[in-house]
Amino acid sequence: MVEYIYGPVPSRRLGFSLGVDLVPFKTCSYDCIYCQLGKTTNKTLERKEYFPEREILVQLKKAISLHQKIDYITFSGSGEPTLNSKIGSLIRKIKKITKIPVAVLTNGSLFYQKELRKELLLADLVIPSLDAVTPEIFRKVNRPHSLIKVEEIIEGIKKFRKEFKGLIWLEIMLAKGVNDGKEHLDKIVSIVQEIKPDKIHLNTVVRPPTEKFALPLFSEELSEIKKLFGKNCEIIAEFKPREQKTYSEDLKTAILSIIKRRPVSLLDLSISLGKNQSEILKYLDFLVQNGKIKVVHYHGIKYYEIN
Ligand code: SF4
Repeated sequence: MVEYIYGPVPSRRLGFSLGVDLVPFKTCSYDCIYCQLGKTTNKTLERKEYFPEREILVQLKKAISLHQKIDYITFSGSGEPTLNSKIGSLIRKIKKITKIPVAVLTNGSLFYQKELRKELLLADLVIPSLDAVTPEIFRKVNRPHSLIKVEEIIEGIKKFRKEFKGLIWLEIMLAKGVNDGKEHLDKIVSIVQEIKPDKIHLNTVVRPPTEKFALPLFSEELSEIKKLFGKNCEIIAEFKPREQKTYSEDLKTAILSIIKRRPVSLLDLSISLGKNQSEILKYLDFLVQNGKIKVVHYHGIKYYEIN
């Protein structure tokens, strides 16, 4: 059975986030150099019902009933969620079954489409990315589908800001020497001032990226850049652990379902699953030995990723 729901996983911004995956692995309109999931295998702009809406809802209802603490239901996961043509219908149906807020993590590439913007209006929080504002840097960092124009995305996000009553947190992922030049940052700042998001989230390449040349900025550099964006700007802080009781029937499946979506550390898994690290480590060692997952080291931290 295909699993569309994962977590709840601890998220730096969303607390315990129950993830909903709306597209097959690496189905995306971009192929970002910093992507944690590896190279995009299906670069597309085609919007369709990639997975059956009905089955997603059945699994979601079950997950909601099993977990005591969910701060957000989050469309995210293995690719670009707005490529799923049922996203609007799903948000509407989720709103009928639970009061848990709905967040959409998106690369924003389809915001030039009026219909898509309309579909997201019932969400509580939308987190679009905007890593580049010139065509050249956009191509370098996001490696988009050939029909996408960054100018149209920016216009689309501005329109969405006017249409949408919920929260918009704009995420900017910076890679050293790629999109962090002063001239480019000044351009991003002036466009962000026009967009007027509720928050600006500065991020850098903190997890193993697709391309080795996608390098992180130092925290002092990010702190300096933060000043350019003003008071609504935050550097995304590390998640602070909280108590979470788990009801996972099968810890191995739960671990694999999280690692499938992104590389994680032992601490990430321990917080997410509410189990102590030594117990999880037994499963991780078993999965490594069986070749299901592998260990990668990135900036001094040990991550587990799918093999
Ligand atoms: S980071 Fe997001 S937008 Fe970029 S390639 Fe990966 S899934 Fe697509």
